[in-house]
Amino acid sequence: MHPHLLSVDDLSRDDIERILGRAESFAEVSGREIKKVPTLRGRTVINLFYEASTRTQSSFELAAKRLSADLITLKAVGSAVDKGESLKDTVQTLSAYDPAAIVIRSPHAGAAGLVARWTSAAVVNAGDGKHEHPTQALLDLYTLKRRAGSLEGVKVWIVGDVLHSRVARSNILAFMRMGCAVTVCGPPTLIPRGIESLGCEVRYTLDELGSADVVYALRMQRERMTGSFVPSLREYAARYQIDGRRLGTNQLLMHPGPVNRGVELAAEVIDSPQALIAEQVESGVVVRMAVLYELLAGRGAPNGVREGAETEPQPA
Ligand code: ASP
Repeated sequence: MHPHLLSVDDLSRDDIERILGRAESFAEVSGREIKKVPTLRGRTVINLFYEASTRTQSSFELAAKRLSADLITLKAVGSAVDKGESLKDTVQTLSAYDPAAIVIRSPHAGAAGLVARWTSAAVVNAGDGKHEHPTQALLDLYTLKRRAGSLEGVKVWIVGDVLHSRVARSNILAFMRMGCAVTVCGPPTLIPRGIESLGCEVRYTLDELGSADVVYALRMQRERMTGSFVPSLREYAARYQIDGRRLGTNQLLMHPGPVNRGVELAAEVIDSPQALIAEQVESGVVVRMAVLYELLAGRGAPNGVREGAETEPQPA
């Protein structure tokens, strides 16, 4: 496995399977009353969040804490970034604490890759602009595998604003690597040209949505839209919203959150038994524990997972 997790491309199928297996063993820890193992005791994890986040930030925090790491979370607001400190200066300043890992969320594509050049810590990309969000893809694989049993041959439709979505990019790569068949669907203005080169199919209408096993809806990323990509949200919803009419009873529904209720999803499907949205959030913690474990603690059996919380951490 690479020293950093910047893109799904850093992961082989074996790496992904190992991480999913590891996450499974951490799920056992999450079921305990005391949800903590000593694996990263004495190691420092820094969360650097330059963009709004609820799920990703809170789950990385919980993941680091449950592994007993010392954790610092810095948001752009309230830090020296506010005063104009550059990303490079910030990373070099924080390196004085000798962090084992830096988890970075940034509005700029490629930011995580830059951080990896400036630090000796393992860098985890927690979302960089429109580029990638690899831990989202991993938690989605984990969630789907738990529900569907196997990922091989599963037909996934990714529907919506693919153009502005880092989740789409990471998930296309990840689903395909695990043997799923991926179709992306949305208005032509929101589908990047040439996306077929990733190996997925493209559709501009929901006419064949019935062939999907899994419908993965994306948020309309209005904060990243510089022009007008759809005539109106109402029109978008009329053509692409996943609602109770369009979602078959045997199809599973996923969404990375946050959901624009009434835009990409209708209320009735969000609350339906086919929706895996709450499970996706729940999976975030154990999958991020597994990622930190993989990058920082090596490849042996997760210490303390089965043996109990007093086991000594493994040397890196
Ligand atoms: N939470 C995901 C992300 O940070 C999806 C989204 O914002 O729509 O990319």
